[in-house]
Amino acid sequence: MEKKMKLETRAVHAGDRKQPANRDAFVPVTTPIYASSSFLYADTAKLDRVLGHEEEGYSYARYENPTRSALEETLANLEGGAGAVACSSGMMAMELALQAALMDRPKAILAANALYGATLSLLTKVFEPMGVESDFVDICDFDTVRAKLAYRRYACVTMETISNPLLRVGEIDRIAVAAREQGALLVVDNTFATPMLARPLELGATYSVHSVTKFLAGHGDVLGGAVISDADGLPGLTALSRITGPVLGPFESYLTMRGIKTFPLRMERQCANACRVAAWLQAHPGIEKVHYCGDPAHPDAATIRRLLPQGLRGALVSFSIAGAGREQVFRFMDRLKLVVRGTSLGDVHTLALYPAIASHRDLAPKQRARLGIGDGLVRLCLGIEAVDDIIADLDQALSE
Ligand SMILES: *Cc1c(COP(=O)(O)O)cnc(C)c1O
Repeated sequence: MEKKMKLETRAVHAGDRKQPANRDAFVPVTTPIYASSSFLYADTAKLDRVLGHEEEGYSYARYENPTRSALEETLANLEGGAGAVACSSGMMAMELALQAALMDRPKAILAANALYGATLSLLTKVFEPMGVESDFVDICDFDTVRAKLAYRRYACVTMETISNPLLRVGEIDRIAVAAREQGALLVVDNTFATPMLARPLELGATYSVHSVTKFLAGHGDVLGGAVISDADGLPGLTALSRITGPVLGPFESYLTMRGIKTFPLRMERQCANACRVAAWLQAHPGIEKVHYCGDPAHPDAATIRRLLPQGLRGALVSFSIAGAGREQVFRFMDRLKLVVRGTSLGDVHTLALYPAIASHRDLAPKQRARLGIGDGLVRLCLGIEAVDDIIADLDQALSE
């Protein structure tokens, strides 16, 4: 699959229709589900060469499975990576990427202070007790990021392309350079942006992490993750993965691959819907504040214009209901008829989430307030429905 074709084309074709060695054999149009834990050859000498890495091939599913490999090829293709490892969840992918970064580097991580809740828990409740310290920084304040990097040696910097739920955007490219100067890698969670909006490896990151559960699989039926790597990071990543087996099963790999074929179409519509809904919310008298990457008054507007493609500003919109606390937000959520109250994002259906009881539940109210996550804040991820129906549902749920 040629890299120069457009992403929409590569999403449909990459990874599929491998020509078998025997050219007379048929070629399946889409990669089938290979439900097999091991693979054998006509002669043992070939298996020996495959196990010894002298020849490419499949031997055991913890190492490689053809369905998963096809998905990994697609993912690497979409983000310009040298390879990828598809994992059993987004969090498994995050752990794998951070472990690979830590392997032969200082046992310290410089992390964005706005992170997905479970990533924060991974740093403080898993890595910290194992002796890996994390320092936290406002990732949108580049001068402070650079100062921190100069002050202490880190294995890596970790951040999200678009943060949750306030949708802040840091300067990935400049941070990648600053990190590299100090021997640290950059690990970017690109789940919210997707390869349509950002390709972190092209901006200098070593690992781009995804929860494929979200936009890439896109239909609310898969739990999965992926790490996409540049050439330097790949040997460490795959060596670790072959030992620990954090990998995605063939059924989920198949579903994710199927989802990716329509992901560019879905994402375009989802971004367009978010743009319309953000404008509608801005004009609504019952809404105090709207967080949206397409807002010209966004605190990172200059970075967004510089790093994200024109017209694609993401499918997420967060907003505060004026004067609302827990009770009023519960009432709003319970009145939604079309919008699904699911604790996820990136699906074909529009999803609403209340961060105070979901993604940021484990934080004390004061901590949440310090991050700017008030009790009236709701996160919306737009689906592919007709936007007028979504707005009508929000309107009736917000009415007195
Ligand atoms: C969902 C999510 C994760 C975790 O992914 P899982 O597939 O639920 O393990 C990590 N980062 C972000 C930004 C997410 O939205």
